[in-house]
Amino acid sequence: ERLRLDGRVAYVTGGGQGIGRAFAHALGEAGAKVAVVDLVLAKAEAVACELSLKGIKSLALAADVSKPEDVQRMVDAIVAGWGTVHIACNNAGINLNSASEETSLEEWDKTFNVNLRGLFLCCQAAGRIMLNQGYGKIINTASMASLIVPHPQKQLAYNTSKAGVVKLTQTLGTEWIDRGVKVNCISPGIVDTPLIHSQELRPLVRRWLADIPAGRLAQPTDLQAAVVYLASEASDYMTGHNLVIEGGQSLW
Ligand code: NAD
Repeated sequence: ERLRLDGRVAYVTGGGQGIGRAFAHALGEAGAKVAVVDLVLAKAEAVACELSLKGIKSLALAADVSKPEDVQRMVDAIVAGWGTVHIACNNAGINLNSASEETSLEEWDKTFNVNLRGLFLCCQAAGRIMLNQGYGKIINTASMASLIVPHPQKQLAYNTSKAGVVKLTQTLGTEWIDRGVKVNCISPGIVDTPLIHSQELRPLVRRWLADIPAGRLAQPTDLQAAVVYLASEASDYMTGHNLVIEGGQSLW
């Protein structure tokens, strides 16, 4: 009962595939209306269509979370359609991969623009609406890489940006809690999504498998209950928390 989200309005960035898609389904199945947001409109539309087929109210929006005008347009469109935002899943993120001594400034900036600047913009735009109504749940996607340095290295910009996601979550979470807005993050381990099947990351997956006590990669479904919990009133006493779901990998 306390895990139901009926009547709630949610959005998920990076909702067009992978973890964001799983989050969109989970929130919708728990009763929320879900705006699926992605850089690629067609991906957002495909997921919104999947939700509609399940009877979940959904809409698809294109936005690049690193652009302030896109983020404002996204929030405005959701408010125009459904009146407000209660649940903000700031999940869009990218993982580029290069030896630190070869990482270009362009790669560094691109990573930080999506993973951290994008998060700041989304938290601020959604947060303003939530603070006004005295209620809101923000769930950011960090990574186990915020805690440990997964083998092998070569993820300087990514790991550093994800550590920033945790600190942003802690800082906002404590700043806004007395105005009804809770901010938490989820740190997945290695999740079987298109992201890890990129050309750069695919060779690493076998190596990573050996580091996971659970003996397998996470599936996006392994994260679904966590996002519903953090979006629901059951977690109202929790803020600034980093919920780590990694099959024990950060302990080895
Ligand atoms: P993915 O690459 O499979 O999907 C990401 C989605 O985000 C894509 O649909 C993409 O189009 C969209 N996107 C990319 N840049 C965007 C932007 N600027 N604005 C809006 N949308 C954008 O990735 P995933 O594995 O589902 O990862 C989702 C989140 O989880 C990311 O923040 C990632 O860092 C994090 N994460 C993933 C893993 C993993 O192993 N897959 C582990 C820990 C954390």
